[in-house]
Amino acid sequence: MADVIDALRFARRAGLTVAVRGGGHSFPGLSVCDDGLVIDLSLMKGVRVDLANRTVRAQAGVRLGELDRETQAFGLAVPAGIVTHTGLAGLTLGGGIGWLMRKYGLTIDQLLSVDLISADGELIKASASENSDLFWGLRGAGGNFGVVTEFEFRLNPVGPEVLAGPIIWPMERSAEVLRFYRDWITDVPDELTTIVVHRKAPPLPVLPPELHGRPIVTVICCYAGPVEDGERVVQPLKAFGSPLLDLCTRTPFVQHQAMFDASFPEGWWYYFRSCDVATLTDEVIDITAEHAQRIRSPLTAFPIFHLGGAVGRVGEDETAFHGRTAGHTFNINATTATRDGFEEERDWSRSFWSALQPHHTGVYVNFLMDEGQQRVHDAYGSVKYDRLRALKRKYDPDNVFRLNQNIPPG
Ligand SMILES: Cc1cc2nc3c(=O)[nH]c(=O)nc-3n(C[C@H](O)[C@H](O)[C@H](O)COP(=O)(O)OP(=O)(O)OC[C@H]3O[C@@H](n4cnc5c(N)ncnc54)[C@H](O)[C@@H]3O)c2cc1C
Repeated sequence: MADVIDALRFARRAGLTVAVRGGGHSFPGLSVCDDGLVIDLSLMKGVRVDLANRTVRAQAGVRLGELDRETQAFGLAVPAGIVTHTGLAGLTLGGGIGWLMRKYGLTIDQLLSVDLISADGELIKASASENSDLFWGLRGAGGNFGVVTEFEFRLNPVGPEVLAGPIIWPMERSAEVLRFYRDWITDVPDELTTIVVHRKAPPLPVLPPELHGRPIVTVICCYAGPVEDGERVVQPLKAFGSPLLDLCTRTPFVQHQAMFDASFPEGWWYYFRSCDVATLTDEVIDITAEHAQRIRSPLTAFPIFHLGGAVGRVGEDETAFHGRTAGHTFNINATTATRDGFEEERDWSRSFWSALQPHHTGVYVNFLMDEGQQRVHDAYGSVKYDRLRALKRKYDPDNVFRLNQNIPPG
């Protein structure tokens, strides 16, 4: 904490731009800067589980897999994202969507308190009972108000084994699978969170060689309840349309959490566009199926997250996070290993996103690229955006923390 205070005070005296780095997963690279000071928190790895109170304290350099490792030793978890090398700090401060969200909400819905170093180098605690205005803003627009050094979360029972994994069909059946899926998820229990992924099947040992490279649509499940109950719930999906492969089975939660890790190594070329939609209407499905067929890169894989459940039961005004009533979040992710083919794949992502534009209901702030102020505004809506600006004027009037999806004070 002392290092963060010193670093901030030094940067301000020297008039340096400040970047704050947790896990370093910012899509637009906002956690680093040229000719400025990067406050890199990645060495702050402390995690302390308090079993008596069912809470966990985690420092700002912790990655999701590191948190799960400690909490899953006790069959407990904080709902978070789907790639274990993502930073807990940035993910939490934007909201946090992932495999447990329909049962336990967003990551911020289990957040109890934070320790934050303000722009003046002062320690501020924020929780529902202390600096509650700041605590509201931190849950969705977090990077704007200071450097969070430590988080405290409520813990929830999960696994350690869950029913989880992908069920796979050929991509040419995408529209049919998505129509079935849309109808089926209307009354699945909150324990079940699913993500639909379209891609070319990767050459993984768990997939038979004849599938490698074949365009597929897959519904990936995670049931955060008794495995036997999950099997009953998922049965209709497994029975639909003779899947090519069914890998949805009893699995350690930490193993399931890591299933996408290999799809996002450092050094590849990534471009993301994201939007929320209310439901998978026939039109949304047809646009999706059509654009999925146009994926060229063997590395491109785009997830469609199913929201609802506990996410939607928290009031829209209770946190700065916006979009609790959205049905699905698209993350149209274009990936290549090198510059070769990247531009074409990026154009694909943009044109897919544009085709969905009539159906956009909002955007998740953590899935924004460098898209301009209007899009940051869109991520919060006018009322929240104005409230966040007032909060910014109170806690960071000089906009010291501007390398983020920025809420300007003035
Ligand atoms: C491969 C991949 C998978 C992802 N999967 C998911 C997912 O499943 N669910 C989901 O919700 N999101 C997901 N995301 C998005 C992710 O939530 C954001 O990119 C998030 O900002 C990453 O946090 P970080 O700490 O790793 O990033 P960083 O790059 O370190 O920081 C991101 C932003 O947060 C600010 N910040 C970081 N730490 C602090 C701190 N301690 N105090 C104040 N500000 C801070 C930074 O200044 C920067 O503006 C994913 C991203 C990637 C690249």
